[in-house]
Amino acid sequence: MTMSIGNVSAAGAASSSASTTTNARCMELERQYSATNYGPLPAVLSRGEGVWVWDVEGNKYLDMLAGYSALSFGHGHPKMMEAMFEQAKKLCVVSRAFYSDQLAPFAKELSEFCGMEMMLPMNTGAEAVESAIKTARKWAYTRKNVPHDKAEIIVCEGNFHGRTTTIVGFSSVAQYRDLFGPATPGFVTIPFGDPDALEKAITPNTAAFLFEPIQGEGGINIPEDGFLKRVREICTKNNVLMIADEVQTGMGRTGTVFACDHENVKPDMYIMGKTLGGGVYPVSAIVSSRDILSVFQPGDHGSTFGGNPLAAAVGRAAMKLLIDEDLCAKSVEMGEYFRDRIRGLNSPKIKGVRGRGMLTGIEVHKEAGTGHEFVEALLAEGILCKETVEQVVRVTPPLVITKEELDWAIERFAKVFA
Ligand SMILES: *Cc1c(COP(=O)(O)O)cnc(C)c1O
Repeated sequence: MTMSIGNVSAAGAASSSASTTTNARCMELERQYSATNYGPLPAVLSRGEGVWVWDVEGNKYLDMLAGYSALSFGHGHPKMMEAMFEQAKKLCVVSRAFYSDQLAPFAKELSEFCGMEMMLPMNTGAEAVESAIKTARKWAYTRKNVPHDKAEIIVCEGNFHGRTTTIVGFSSVAQYRDLFGPATPGFVTIPFGDPDALEKAITPNTAAFLFEPIQGEGGINIPEDGFLKRVREICTKNNVLMIADEVQTGMGRTGTVFACDHENVKPDMYIMGKTLGGGVYPVSAIVSSRDILSVFQPGDHGSTFGGNPLAAAVGRAAMKLLIDEDLCAKSVEMGEYFRDRIRGLNSPKIKGVRGRGMLTGIEVHKEAGTGHEFVEALLAEGILCKETVEQVVRVTPPLVITKEELDWAIERFAKVFA
């Protein structure tokens, strides 16, 4: 077998190495023993440092997927490592049966960081979205007198909010949704970026509008300017909660702390995850007002690991790092530089380049190939990224990437798009 991985052939590397750990062997074992709910690209990573990762055979790659935006600080950032190991030595998990000296400051700092009053900690993005849904429903029944089991939540076509049963039930991607039913009722879908459709969809039973300010997995879809402001007005006027899923767009990814900041709009609730875990640990949360989050009574909701001291210490370090290293400004500067240079390639294969901050989508012409084919070609050049929808190559490097590192990447993009 001569499979080309990164810059070398796996078969060649395997025969010249005494090690039994080869790319091919790991891929074979993973496929055999781990459910194939993913179809990974053929890079078997074993080490990461900053924006770089290495596979088991020593090939080096530039990580321009960055864990679907979970690795905004790159791999193994020293500040994250320090915070995590210091806390790990003291106390990792207590469960919420007790208080902890880390959740207290994390809750305060995260609430203030968001300009909000209160938070509810979880682990993954999907769990935070589930928490937001539960909050909105109980809020509707207890504050808005919506009849029991009648609460409606409005969502957008092309949404991505995670993979739990309730969430995939309102996905517009057939593969995510079909065969996992019956779908949880109570969700109404409208086109993305259409405030008039939102206004029309609202009924007396509407609890919330749940949306991504920029759709990430849906293809890096940026709504027209003014969309967020209109949403804010409509939600306020109709007493509907405006819930921004900023799991991917939050914490500097789009050049501001939150993507909602582009229009100076404050939702009623932020959903956070990915970067909040600093690239080292799953940390998520919903952050909102005291009025809204006080719908919860002890016993209403929970998570064994949510808000554990290790997660809290990691979350605190992540917020601090974002501010201390001025990563929002870097996100704007490097993101615009990257898009300008890619547009400047004038490649006939590229249909369009869009993005904000360090969230970029390169849409390729159908005749030139699929997004996946370009992603494979980039992998062969030592660049890791991933398509979103069929024709879009998503590029979301760590926010700490330097201009030199981007230039290294751009040379390779130029080759692939030539
Ligand atoms: C990734 C993502 C999620 C789900 O997060 P998980 O940690 O994978 O559960 C939810 N919403 C958005 C917008 C995301 O990008």
